[in-house]
Amino acid sequence: MKCHICHNSCDSFIDEKKKIRYYHCDHCEYIFKSPEYYQELSAQKERYNLHENDENDAGYQAYFQRFLDFILPLTGDPKTALDFGCGATSLLCRMLEKEGMACDYFDPIYHPETLIDTKKYDIIVSTEVFEHLHQPREVFESLLERLEEGGYLALQTQFHPNDREAFQKWYYHQDPTHIVFFTVRTFEVLCRIYGCELIGDNGTNMVVIRKQQHSA
Ligand SMILES: [Zn+2]
Repeated sequence: MKCHICHNSCDSFIDEKKKIRYYHCDHCEYIFKSPEYYQELSAQKERYNLHENDENDAGYQAYFQRFLDFILPLTGDPKTALDFGCGATSLLCRMLEKEGMACDYFDPIYHPETLIDTKKYDIIVSTEVFEHLHQPREVFESLLERLEEGGYLALQTQFHPNDREAFQKWYYHQDPTHIVFFTVRTFEVLCRIYGCELIGDNGTNMVVIRKQQHSA
């Protein structure tokens, strides 16, 4: 199996508990579940509806605040934002609006009609989305296309331990809707492919990427 990120060939291993096959790329450290475990959107929606994302919940706000506290010092003074894969509610969007940005949101399940194809943004945020994507490289590329030159892509997804024994015990891949897994290295490789720059990561679950500015 070829890596869906860097197209090098991958080794595979079996999760002992669930007997699921995973592919692991040595080059970019991407790990993905064998595609027969990928779920349709309708099945994913049932699972997401179980998530209790009450937007008035102080814990949920604090959770997004930790994300903003990490990314905003790295991303200049953005005026326009897109929350890609916001889920049922747009709490993060409203928090970005409080920071002075005009924010749009999109979710393939809950708000599928809200994306304007020609619009470009200073920053795109996407939290707990990439681990669900069948084709993360293609989505990464399409998000870069929606960014202004010099714009920022800020992502949150839990980085895997890049150790097969530790991976088996890792909680994050137990969720059946979590199908693909990254490390900072995976995002560095993506940045190299698309000519952008990884300007910061927090070592556990957040990266900030800057789209290249074309010189005149
Ligand atoms: Zn790879």
